[in-house]
Amino acid sequence: MKLLVTGGAGFIGSNFARRVLDGSLSGFSHLTVLDKLTYAGSQNSISTNGDGFEFIKGDICDSDLVNKLVLNHDVVVNFAAETHVDRSIVSSENFIQSNIKGVHTLLEAIKVSPDCSLIQISTDEVYGSTDIGSFVEESPILPNSPYSASKASADLLCRAYATTYNLDIKVTRCSNNYGPFQNPEKLIPLFVTNILEGKKLPLYGSGNNVRDWIHVDDHCRAIHAVIERGIPGDVYNIGGGFEITNLDLTKMILTHMGKNVEFIQYVEDRKGHDFRYSVDWNKISSDLGYSPKVKFEAGITETIQWYQDNRSWWENLKFA
Ligand code: NAD
Repeated sequence: MKLLVTGGAGFIGSNFARRVLDGSLSGFSHLTVLDKLTYAGSQNSISTNGDGFEFIKGDICDSDLVNKLVLNHDVVVNFAAETHVDRSIVSSENFIQSNIKGVHTLLEAIKVSPDCSLIQISTDEVYGSTDIGSFVEESPILPNSPYSASKASADLLCRAYATTYNLDIKVTRCSNNYGPFQNPEKLIPLFVTNILEGKKLPLYGSGNNVRDWIHVDDHCRAIHAVIERGIPGDVYNIGGGFEITNLDLTKMILTHMGKNVEFIQYVEDRKGHDFRYSVDWNKISSDLGYSPKVKFEAGITETIQWYQDNRSWWENLKFA
């Protein structure tokens, strides 16, 4: 099976590609990574071209390129997106372009190459916020940020193309990922690298917002299960089963790194900051046999160590 990974030089995409190349995610005869290499993409996160692997620098909005690539592959996993909520609040133009127009370009390509399937990597943020309980796949789509609205738009396009043209398109909606190779603008790598640089940790509002965390390897395993056993047209929630407030997470990181709460600097809350995300992932668990393997305590220890050991990877990316 020939696999095209779009956005494969970013955080989750590069971890997914690495697992395909090392054989932990099996079943693929060839891997192509297509990435525009925005500020969030880094060629240092992926392998060099070699046997069974090709990297192409390009944009998922480029229909000529995308049509040619889709025609020559059996499955596309689309990680390519603008992903930072804060950036979408400042300016959403790139989010509309890559996250909606880009997905539309992929869908149009699949339409003319219907033997190729598409896995659209979406997010739990499309459901919006909830104080209690967890969203199921049928819950209303109520995004609150320009980022989540752009992802939700893509989800709806995927649904429409799967239904109208009877295409093999699946959507996954995962909670917050952590692990190696994550851009240091995101909470965990930002805080870990700030501590390494002796800087304060800017914590939004009171720090009481709640997120569910999943190790990136578990997310990749879940996506692999969806490729292998998912039902065309279906949506799958993916969770990690570790909910924590941002404040408690920050304290945990500080403790791990031998620092105290004096490093915390409370800053003005993010505009429209969602209080809590939570997805019910019983469907992928019961239907596809997925469950997270990495315990948060072990995963965060290993992740902190990775940023300590790989300073050259993140130093140039910080505030790019
Ligand atoms: P990231 O920002 O680290 O990487 C995104 C990658 O996409 C980058 O390499 C970038 O260069 C590339 N890209 C952006 N626009 C492109 C375009 N037009 N054409 C080709 N490449 C383009 O993001 P991530 O954290 O790895 O997230 C990957 C996907 O997973 C995204 O779709 C995101 O919405 C989704 N997701 C992320 C999380 C999370 O916690 N990080 C959680 C759930 C879902």
